[in-house]
Formats: sequence, structure tokens, C-alpha cells
Amino acid sequence: MKILKFGGSSVGTPESLSRVKEIVSARQEPSIVVVSALGGVTDQLIRASRLAAAGDTAFRDELSLLRAKHRTVCESAVPDTARRTALLAELDGLLDQLERICEGIFLLQVLPPKTAHEVMGFGEQLSSRIVTAILPGAVRYDAVSFIKTRRHGHLDEVDTELTYKLIQEAFRDWESGRATAVVPGFIASDAGSGELTTLGRGGSDYTASLLAAALDAAQLEIWTDVDGFMTADPRIIKTSYVIDEMTYEEAMELCNFGAKVIYPPTLYPVCAKGIPILIKNTFNPEAPGTVIKQAVAPGDTSIKGISSIDDISLITLSGTSMVGIVGVDSRIFSALAREQISAFLVSQSASETGISIGVSRADAETARQVLEEAFAREIESGAIKPIEVRNELAAVAAIGENMKQHAGIAGKLFTTLGRNGISVIALAQGAAESNISFIVDRRQLRKSLNVIHDSFFLSEYQELNLFLCGIGTVGGRLIAQIAHQRERLMRSRGLKINIVGIARSTCAVFDRGGIDLEHWQETLREKSIPIDPQRLKEEIIGMNIFNSVFVDCTASPAVAALYGDFFDHGISVVAANKIAASSDYANYRRLKDLARKRGVKWLFETNVGAGLPIINTINDLRNSGDRILKMEAVLSGTLNFIFNTLSADIPFSETVRMAREQGFSEPDPRIDLSGTDVIRKLVILSREAGYKVNQEDVQADLFIPKEFFDCSEEEFWQKLPSLDAGFEARRRQLESEGRRWRFVAAMEDGRCSVSLRSVERQHSFYVLDGSNNIILLTTERYNRHPMLIQGYGAGADVTAAGVFADIMSIANI
Ligand code: ADP
Ligand code: ASP
Ligand code: MG
Repeated sequence: MKILKFGGSSVGTPESLSRVKEIVSARQEPSIVVVSALGGVTDQLIRASRLAAAGDTAFRDELSLLRAKHRTVCESAVPDTARRTALLAELDGLLDQLERICEGIFLLQVLPPKTAHEVMGFGEQLSSRIVTAILPGAVRYDAVSFIKTRRHGHLDEVDTELTYKLIQEAFRDWESGRATAVVPGFIASDAGSGELTTLGRGGSDYTASLLAAALDAAQLEIWTDVDGFMTADPRIIKTSYVIDEMTYEEAMELCNFGAKVIYPPTLYPVCAKGIPILIKNTFNPEAPGTVIKQAVAPGDTSIKGISSIDDISLITLSGTSMVGIVGVDSRIFSALAREQISAFLVSQSASETGISIGVSRADAETARQVLEEAFAREIESGAIKPIEVRNELAAVAAIGENMKQHAGIAGKLFTTLGRNGISVIALAQGAAESNISFIVDRRQLRKSLNVIHDSFFLSEYQELNLFLCGIGTVGGRLIAQIAHQRERLMRSRGLKINIVGIARSTCAVFDRGGIDLEHWQETLREKSIPIDPQRLKEEIIGMNIFNSVFVDCTASPAVAALYGDFFDHGISVVAANKIAASSDYANYRRLKDLARKRGVKWLFETNVGAGLPIINTINDLRNSGDRILKMEAVLSGTLNFIFNTLSADIPFSETVRMAREQGFSEPDPRIDLSGTDVIRKLVILSREAGYKVNQEDVQADLFIPKEFFDCSEEEFWQKLPSLDAGFEARRRQLESEGRRWRFVAAMEDGRCSVSLRSVERQHSFYVLDGSNNIILLTTERYNRHPMLIQGYGAGADVTAAGVFADIMSIANI
């Protein structure tokens, strides 16, 4: 025999009721069906009674809505006229009774607990009659006569012994009749007075569990509106998925910590008898669901699931006099227990100088009062500090019996949170080691859940959320490359890259669910908001998304100035923008240190040599104990292109124009011609090589007269052809000597220079096509034969690919 419990969501509409009918009718063996009120009805009843108590006539509208809802459901769910008429009369009778009670509340304007329970219980009284009518041959049983409670303080607690006895009596002859039994959930009665009581919100699950335990059922089935118990609340974590099986203990921990799918007391009766619980979806009965039982096979993940409780308070008692005093804890918990305040997280320092207790927000004030009373003497003498209450918090629990076998889970968990800029306010780990719970600021709740879900592979994919700033050639190509690679990365790497923000200089679009990369241009046109750098920063930090990376494909100093704030909020930065890395050394150092301190990454491989692995190589060499002694490089793809293109047919001014048009140069090519761009790159490389260098320290030999840099850009273009003849004469001379021009950046022992040099045929820089870059690294290990890195050093595609590679290396941490 099995118990099937259908929740409010499963009995809310005529369509869902027909599902219930199909599920129950398909059973070969007799079932006991426990039903909740129609979806949303308990809330409506509570609202109506409170309105009436407040003297608000709107309670009558609420009651009319309730009547209409039950009538509509009844009219379409029961086709047989005679049955329908009888049912409608029965429902009307109950609804009239409800109206009379509410009119009474309205008149007296008081709502004693007894009446509140009575009103709340109408939902199940009504729904159980409807369900009985739609199931052929079903018989309704009155839960009030066998689910018995007793008052303890403010709470009605089930008298299990009496309840089991009464259930067994009520169902003694049932099985022989083979009729489906329908039982209203949630409602009960006081063992002494017989007054109607309720089992707490979500209590229909509990009714079903009591029946299962009393009657030694083979299984308890909870039919709801999700495919099973999931790794996290599916309304918060989109990537949560169904857990096939879990132990009672795991389910208990998750439910006690807010997983609404089962009402926590439900687990005890069935657990004591070893009766398995099966969670199923009324709307997808084919899905296998979740089995909860005594022992399950260890799964692949160290954490089984996560759950949370929003809006809690933390009460802290501290003071040196607490050290070693026996009985402080017992006084705290007795005081709280007297007021029936439950503490769901307790965190005590080993030195015993303080204890923090997590309670629900609603209990916080009472908790403070009772503790102040309990410790009045100690507080007055100063031995204990005044009690602190901190509100606006949330508690998160990570649960799984596998945690016992895996070392370092707590370490990984808190590192991951820290890296995402989430600070943990208090924490506790159960002695059973199957639960780690901690408290964070409420505003960090969603992010905390996402971060844990993601990093413990509870999610099918690891997610990386990108904010892309700058949609010029590099930014545009990057979007195209990500769009192209996205599917493959999901399949082969389990990595999901979402672009959650795209910004250009004046406007931006944000979407926490990920912007559709096929149509990002339209989205930006139609849905963008105006921004400036300050607003951009506020929006990104305000979105507070986990695993996020700011990708800077601009050349803007104002954007580079935002990195520090991003690091402070756990956001990594990948920059094609060279401004920050080549800025004043103190700023560079500050940003480097800050990123390290916050556990985030600041990557800028494309600042030098586009996609060539130069900075990474330097870092790898240094990390493995090598020392960079000397660097010689051709780092300007633009200048290399110019000097390679220069010929008898193409004069100097034309090569500059071509470089500009083909996208090899900076928008104002003088940044390349003056060597400024190469100086920046050399400074960045030298710093990464371990030297403290500023741009002013680089000795620069200009090859174009100074006045070309002091005029407007327009004048510059006008004047440029005047240099052609001189360049051509020198070019011809070099050609006859078998030499070529290269603009070389050099560093030796921290001394840096850039200059136009002529190199002979044997030099490794002689053959260097198009816009290629080359670098020779002389280190302690690569000494007689320096290391050489060479390849495309400019171009939107290779630069975007380099940015993409940096992004991927963040996904690997
Ligand atoms: P019913 O009306 O069937 O009793 P509930 O609303 O009480 O249903 O519980 C089911 C809901 O619990 C789901 O719709 C889901 O939104 C929520 N929920 C929260 N945490 C979880 C979880 N870990 N797994 C599944 N559902 C969850
Ligand atoms: N109808 C009750 C509630 O909404 C009991 C239940 O649904 O389990 O809390
Ligand atoms: Mg429920």
C-alpha cells in the first residue's frame, strides 16, 4: 500500500485534477491520497481572516474569489450532473460556514489562534471533497478525527502515539474494501479540546508521512510541480537538476535549511520506519523523480545540494567573562527554547569569547529580549557586552554525506566565495560533517548560491559571465569568436560563457541571463541605456554576478581607472587596453597586489604582441625560477608593416596611410610613429620581467621630426609626404648594404630604450614579414641561445583570440 500526497500546485486547476485522476487510476493496488488545498487557497484564507480582523471589508472580496475558484474547478472537473450538484451544495455549505466565521471576526475585530486555524483549515476541507468526487469509488476520511495534536507553549505538536493508534483504527477495514481513500492534509484537532488545529505551512506532507508510518506503507509519494528534489531551488538556480537519490539525513538538512519541496517534520515518521519517499512531478509522471531512503550509493559530487534561508538575523553574545564559564550555552539555549525560538546556526569561537546564533528575522527582537533578561547581571557588570543583533542576512547550507570522504571542501567553498567578493559573516560545520552552513549579507545570497552550485560541479556547466566594454574591431571579433565557440566549449569543456553586458562609450545593455550573441547589435540598438564610466561601474557592481570578468577592449583611460573597483568586488579583468598596465608604476603595482589579494585575475597578454604568448612565457619563466636578463624585440606591428612595405614604388607617407586603413595602426598613427606604443609595451614587459620601470625611464630616439607630433592630426597628414624623399634616399642606401630597418625595443638589466636600427642579413630580426612581432629573451637559462617568440603581432582577429585565451585561463582557476 502506498500513500500519495498531491500538493496545492497539483490540485489547482481542472487540468491538474485530471492528471491526479490519471495517476491514481493507473494504480493496481489501493492507495491513500492526501491532498492540500487548491493552489494559493491557504494564503487567501489567511489574508481574508486578517483583513476581517483589521476591520477591512475587502475580506468579502477575498471570500467571493474563493467561492468562484472552487465552483469553477468543480464545474469543469465533475462532468456527472448529479454528483456535481451534490458536491456544489456541500462546498457551498462549507463556504457559508467560512463566511459566518469571517463575519464574526470582522465584528469582534480579533483573531484568536484557534479561529485562525479554523479558517486556514477550510482549504483542505474543500479540496478533499473535490478530489473524492473525481476519483471513482473514492471514500473521504476525516483527518481531524485521527491526526491529534497537543499544545506545547505556542505550538501544536502531533501526539504521534495517539495519532498512529487512531489512524490504525480508522483504516482497519479499509484495505479489504479496495477503495481509494482521500484524506485532507494539514488539518488536525487538539487531543484534549477537539478544536481544529493545523500542522504548519506545508503540513500536508506531514499528514501523509504520519499515515505512511502508522500503516507501514511500502512508500510515501509526494507529487508536486517539479521533477524531484533538486540540487538547489530551481527558482534561483537555473542550472539546478534533479537528484536521483538521497538519504533521509541529507533531505532533512536541506529541508531544514529552506528547501521547500518537503515540509521538514515529514521526514521523521517515515525515516523511523525506513519507508522510502518518492518525489514525483504530477505534470511529468514519466520522470523518475527522487528517492529518499536510508542508504544510497555515493554520487560523483562532494556536495549533494544547497539550500538557503533568506532574511535572518544574527544574535551575538561576547565578552571575556564567557571564557570557561560552564553553563553559558545552556542558559542561552534554555532562554531561547522557552520562547520556542529555534536557532538554525550556532557559531562559537574556540576561545569561547563569543557565540553567534542565527534566528529568523521574526524571532530576532524576542531573542534579544530574552537573552538580555537571562544575562542582565553580566551585562550590567560589563562581563558580557550588550547583545548585538545584525539583520538583513541570509543563511546558506551546503549538504552531502560525501563531504565526510572529501578533504578540503570547506576550504574550497570559502576560497570560492572569497574570490567572488562574498564575505562570510558566520559559519558552522555540523559534527557529522555532512553540512557546512554560513551567513552572508542578504544581497549576496543569489550570488553565493550560484557560486557554490557552479564550482562544486553541481551544475552541468561551469559558467563565466563577461562584461564586454568596447565593440570596435577587437571587441566585435571577440563576440563573433565566442558565439562560434560557445557550443563546443559547453560540450567539450563543460564551460558556458555568457556575455551579460556589452558597453560602448555612450550606451550599454545588460542581461543577467546572457545576451543573444546572434543579435547583439540589434539588442544594443534597441535596449541600451545611456552610460558613462561611473554608471558602467555601478551597473556592473550592482548586478553582483558570480564568476564575472570585465573585458576591456577600449583604449580609454577612464575605463582603465575602474579596474581597482572591479577587483574589490571580486571581478577579474582581461584587458586589451594597455593604459593601466603601462600607467605609473605605483598604480600598476597597486592593481597587481589588489587583484592578488582579492583572489581575482588581471590579465593583459594582448597588450604586447597581440595573441603571441609573450607575457605568459615571461611569467612562466620567472615562476619556475629563471631570471630575465635582457630583451630585444620588434613590438610594433605597425612600424614593421611600414618599413616592410616601404619600397621604390610605395613612399613612406603612403605606407603610414595603408597601415591606418588596414587597421594595423592606432587610430592616430603618431602613437605608433613616436614610439609611444612600443614604449608602453616595453614598460609592461619589463615590469612583468621584474623591473621597476616607468615610461619616462625609456630612452627614445625619434625618427620623425618633433614638429610632426606637435601639430593637429590633419596637418600631420598634410605634412607627411614631405618626409618621403628623405626616407627613400636612406632606404636605397640600406638596400645596397643588404640591411633593413627595424624599430627595436630593448631592455638590459632594467635599462630600456627604443630606436630605429638597421639590421644586417644574419640578424634574426632581418626576416620579419608584414606586421609580425619578434622577441628575443635572454635569461639565466636561455643564455647562449636566447628564446625567440615570433608571429602576427597585430590585427583584430589575433588580438581577439588572445583576449579569448585570457578569458579561458580564468575559467581554469
Ligand atoms: P506543493 O504545492 O506540491 O506542496 P511546494 O510549493 O510546497 O509544492 O514545493 C515545491 C516547490 O519547492 C517547487 O516548485 C520549487 O519551486 C521549490 N523548491 C525549493 N527548493 C527546491 C529544491 N531543492 N528542489 C525542488 N524544489 C524546490
Ligand atoms: N495548504 C497548506 C499550506 O499551503 C498545507 C500544504 O499545502 O501542505 O501550507
Ligand atoms: Mg508543499
